[in-house]
Amino acid sequence: MKRFRDFDLTDYNSYKVKSYCRTAFFPECELDIVDLYKSNKDYIVLGSGNNVILSKSYYDSDFIIFNGNFNEVKVNKESNEIIAEAGAEIYDVSKLAKESELTGAEFYYDIPSSVGGAVVMNAGTKEGETKNILAKVRYLDLEDMLVKEKSKKEIEFEYRNSFFQKQVDKIILKAWFNLKKGNYNEISNLMSESKKRRWEKQPRNYPNAGSVFKRPPNRYVGPMIDELGLKGYRVGGAEVSKKHSGFIINRGDATGNDILNLINEVKHRVFEKYNVNLEIEQRII
Ligand SMILES: Cc1cc2nc3c(=O)[nH]c(=O)nc-3n(C[C@H](O)[C@H](O)[C@H](O)COP(=O)(O)OP(=O)(O)OC[C@H]3O[C@@H](n4cnc5c(N)ncnc54)[C@H](O)[C@@H]3O)c2cc1C
Repeated sequence: MKRFRDFDLTDYNSYKVKSYCRTAFFPECELDIVDLYKSNKDYIVLGSGNNVILSKSYYDSDFIIFNGNFNEVKVNKESNEIIAEAGAEIYDVSKLAKESELTGAEFYYDIPSSVGGAVVMNAGTKEGETKNILAKVRYLDLEDMLVKEKSKKEIEFEYRNSFFQKQVDKIILKAWFNLKKGNYNEISNLMSESKKRRWEKQPRNYPNAGSVFKRPPNRYVGPMIDELGLKGYRVGGAEVSKKHSGFIINRGDATGNDILNLINEVKHRVFEKYNVNLEIEQRII
């Protein structure tokens, strides 16, 4: 297992905020993770860092980073299942599903996420959510240090929320996805169409972490922010995207606090005008 002191997290958060942590550990197998937690229970866990706001420039604590490691993805053709380790990218889950002519995971193709992060966040698009295809999860329970499994029903999935978001002492190790037999070309078209649609709308040429806010009932976040004239509004290096107001982008030198101050300003203005209390989807660390 690789470990680094005073580790620069810039490339491990999609906002590309410059921040350091005391130590970063990159586990390669289940045993590495169990071993790490035998001596310390206070790690900060990152998947691929696509939904986090790093609020500090230095963390006097240790990180476990799943990104790029512990990332095996396998298919079981008899049961139409994909089995993936927590650090695998869900892009790779969708790619293996396509190659195996399995349908259901097409919406994973363009969401930047680790498998662990996708379960925690119930990641999804209009075309589907993690809860639709997840069969079960294997995790380390820090309460008693046992490795356990939970079925989909027990994970209490909600819109961009799950049991694992509320219980941060459960570390996701592996997930099983239940798919259906499909047609290669149809799967492939769904994936590329969805990607094309999303890239036309989203500010992919600037660092960002996807939608900042959860969609409130009967409302759309983007149009409310547009009507307030906040498109392009900046705090330091953080800017409400001109392309999609539901996104905040880093213009180059944004700090976590720039992003948080901008979020607070948007929340405040939306509440004042619409009496809507926007909930942040991104995880503040
Ligand atoms: C351009 C862009 C587009 C996006 N589009 C979408 C979209 O369409 N739909 C959508 O849902 N999201 C979207 N997102 C947000 C993001 O992709 C998802 O929230 C994703 O699931 C986050 O996964 P991650 O691995 O990056 O998690 P991280 O950001 O690394 O972590 C998120 C949370 O999960 C926890 N966590 C991560 N791994 C584990 C683990 N193994 N065990 C326990 N806890 C863990 C972390 O501690 C943290 O609290 C987008 C982001 C970007 C940058």
